Amino acid sequence: MTAIILDGRELSTTMRAEIDEAVTRFKDKYSVTPAIAVVRAGEDPASVSYANAIRRTLEKRGMDFSAHVLPETASQEAIVELVCQLSADTNIHGIMVQEPLPKDIDEAAVKEVLAPEKDVDGVHPINAGRLMQVSPAGRPPGVLDYFVPASPAGGLEILKRYNVTISGKHAVVVGRSNIVGKPMALLLLRENATVTVAHSRTPDLAEICRRADIFCAAVGRAKIITADMIKPGAVVIDFGVNFDAEGNMLGDVDFEAVKEVAGMITPVPGGTGPMTNIMLMLNVLEAARRQLEQN
Ligand code: NAP
Repeated sequence: MTAIILDGRELSTTMRAEIDEAVTRFKDKYSVTPAIAVVRAGEDPASVSYANAIRRTLEKRGMDFSAHVLPETASQEAIVELVCQLSADTNIHGIMVQEPLPKDIDEAAVKEVLAPEKDVDGVHPINAGRLMQVSPAGRPPGVLDYFVPASPAGGLEILKRYNVTISGKHAVVVGRSNIVGKPMALLLLRENATVTVAHSRTPDLAEICRRADIFCAAVGRAKIITADMIKPGAVVIDFGVNFDAEGNMLGDVDFEAVKEVAGMITPVPGGTGPMTNIMLMLNVLEAARRQLEQN
């Protein structure tokens, strides 16, 4: 059996057209251009390249992008002051603080000064806390108005657009970072999956992975997930972004072998990656809508 490919690239093309329409409707209604500010300290190549990709994607969709770059020697106070200024600027609707910040910077303290309503990356404790508190799908809504980090939101969108049944299924998420693994686990729980979260201290990882109807990898180790770890017919979502010695991008999942076992699988590249900026754009648009409707 060869798995159905969950084609994030094709899906993102469809969704870009939907976003174009949404941006046009937004501008007609509010006469305002949704705007994101991206903050970084230093010139970490991955951060520079990600910021450039966000700029290209947003500007093509008619949204505003500004980069706010401090030197790598920037103090905690300087970074906090910049984030506070952007949080108070009514022309900015979304803010993303790129990590890694320089090693002496307290990242948690920087996240706390972000205005939660502009936190389009879903890293502020209020947004992370609301995702934790949200009611399961189908129950009275509970908390509202929170932002979910773009990568797990994109992973969930892939499952939904490919009509994967989540409710009642056993999902296993390998990885527990605040930006990918944990929010993905919470999103699956919200959709009524039974969720197991595994990490670097989990014994018998392969045995736990084999129990997954829906399997998500957010580890950051090329091909760590092998075919013998996947239940036949499982749906496999790979968030991993790794590079081999030749510079080829690889996921956490051994795609060639696992696609012969899984029922559905995201490739890397072309799976969860293209969906990340799509979900970020939707968050920026939603942040702008909420801020304008409050005023
Ligand atoms: P991270 O913060 O380094 O977290 C990696 C997670 O994997 C940790 O929970 C770690 O466990 C677990 N882990 C490490 N080695 C393991 C092993 N041998 N067995 C089982 N679990 C293991 O990484 P991340 O930011 O979540 O990113 C994960 C991957 O997704 C990376 O390839 C990254 O490039 C990609 N990605 C990241 C983002 C992002 O915004 N950061 C977005 C999209 C995709 P412990 O908690 O025990 O250390």
